[in-house]
Amino acid sequence: MSYKSGLLVLSGPSGAGKSSLINKVADKIGPYYFSISTTTRPMRDGEVDGVHYYFVSEEEFKKDIEAENFLEYALVHGNYYGTSMKPVKEALKEDKLVIFDIDVQGHDEVKNRMGDLTTSVFVTTPSLKVLKERLNKRATDEQEIINRRIEMAKREVQRISEYDFLIINDDLDEAAEVLVSIAKAARMKIPSLEIHQFVHKWEAEG
Ligand code: 5GP
Repeated sequence: MSYKSGLLVLSGPSGAGKSSLINKVADKIGPYYFSISTTTRPMRDGEVDGVHYYFVSEEEFKKDIEAENFLEYALVHGNYYGTSMKPVKEALKEDKLVIFDIDVQGHDEVKNRMGDLTTSVFVTTPSLKVLKERLNKRATDEQEIINRRIEMAKREVQRISEYDFLIINDDLDEAAEVLVSIAKAARMKIPSLEIHQFVHKWEAEG
């Protein structure tokens, strides 16, 4: 089977399980590129530079903004996060599905710039209570940071309707199954220009 490229945006509160979901579906969705964001936030225990994020100083980040290297960027929880354009373009050329884990502001920008190639999914816990439990269990962050993430989550869920799909990550296996279907469908999306070309060719061969 031949694969087409596509853009799959995942958003949702920290602690909703986006990373676990992506790991779970990774070998079931064909060739993909997981976009590694650049951030100014401090590295957490267990994180690796160039794997989880590219960790840079605020000064370096601002230079990249000026050079227009970002497809999108946003200030999240007081730190900058951004997606570099170059690897995304290369992955699309190689017919890969590009997967982003970005916030609602980033989704807005990607949708504006990449339009009909974008498929988006909001991932959340079944309730605020479950989110709080998961964040407290993770214990990688201080209470103040956890509280900020909870406040942020409350604001983000208000914008679920901007997304194509909602995944309530209660059971990881079930959520992963849904994500596999969405990822496959994301590759079948046709940019409007291609649709016009297809219709033209379809009629011409009549
Ligand atoms: P965390 O610090 O927990 O890794 O991520 C915090 C938030 O930043 C998450 O909501 C995540 O989706 C978002 N985020 C991560 N990378 C990017 C990015 O490149 N752009 C934007 N807009 N948001 C990002």
